[in-house]
Amino acid sequence: DNFFDVLIIGAGPIGLACGIEAQRYGRSHIILEKGCLVNSLYHYPANMTFFSSSEKLEIGDTPFVTTLPKPKRAEALEYYRRINDKFNLNTHLFEAVLSVRKEVDIFHVQSTKGLYQAKAVIVATGFYDIPMMLNIPGENLPKVSHYYDDPHYYANQRVLVVGASNSSVDAALETYRKGAKVTLVVRGKEISPRVKYWVRPDIENRIAFEEIDVFFDSCLTAITQETVILSTPKGEVTLDNDFVLALTGYQPNFDFLTAMGVHVPDEAPRIPEHDPQTMETNIPGLYLAGVVCGGLNTHLWFIENSRIHAEIIMAHLSATVRPEAP
Ligand code: FAD
Repeated sequence: DNFFDVLIIGAGPIGLACGIEAQRYGRSHIILEKGCLVNSLYHYPANMTFFSSSEKLEIGDTPFVTTLPKPKRAEALEYYRRINDKFNLNTHLFEAVLSVRKEVDIFHVQSTKGLYQAKAVIVATGFYDIPMMLNIPGENLPKVSHYYDDPHYYANQRVLVVGASNSSVDAALETYRKGAKVTLVVRGKEISPRVKYWVRPDIENRIAFEEIDVFFDSCLTAITQETVILSTPKGEVTLDNDFVLALTGYQPNFDFLTAMGVHVPDEAPRIPEHDPQTMETNIPGLYLAGVVCGGLNTHLWFIENSRIHAEIIMAHLSATVRPEAP
């Protein structure tokens, strides 16, 4: 049967939390995920350490046990996989949602594998699919990446890392330690204040000891096969270069939201219209959960502070949407 009380788009931590909460309220659910389970986390850097301690990443009142001060990506994959099993969530993997259409009181959801009907839809699609492009010449060269995975690949190579946030700093430090010649180009005057407090002294010292080069107040303006061109306070600088890691952030899929009828303002921060008290969008019965709610403010929400959305939504939904008759 393809009819559910709640259809959840995205099997990230928050989509899973919504599935658990739907169960707790006795509502039938399905989770459709275009990639693997917790697809965004799977694509995080291989050695990544969370900034949150593990209890803050917990869902379904289930302990996330680690012996480390902060868990690593591999542990989080293990944790959320066990959560999905423990709650026996109805998660369909490698099944992307293509469109959501509401007719009278029923949502019709077309995926790559089928057509579903649901009384309510929760969009928990995150923001990790679409990188913020630099829109400069050479950005499409194969040596340029907007995602960073494993440092070994960059051993003995000249790597330019763009950005000064956690992703950039982690990539700069890791590749430096695997023998890359690393240059960091930073638009602002300093390393972002949001950089993990235990990582900050490391990057500051590598810069102070000139082990990692840095250009502050600078931006990357062009990339060629052999070079990168920077605009710096001292004028244009051309560096020999093998790889560019342009870790300048990501954004939610606004087209996907607007195609469903969700209002998204054109001006930054493009926060999709929703009532923060209920998480309901301008379309009754269509909810937002997790980091997608922040629009371009991708730092606003994270697992720690958005797992609560599942509860808020299900409380509202159970008061407004009648369950399927048994
Ligand atoms: P996501 O985990 O991004 O899940 C969205 C899911 O939706 C994805 O699996 C995606 O494949 C799927 N999807 C998208 N479109 C479709 C579609 N059309 N059809 C079907 N499925 C779709 N937060 C913390 O709280 N602590 C941390 O320490 C932390 N560290 C981070 C480190 C990095 C490098 C990054 C990038 C983020 C970090 N965050 C952290 C933020 C955290 O990852 C996000 O808060 C978390 O992933 C958000 O969960 P989510 O379920 O809202 O979105």
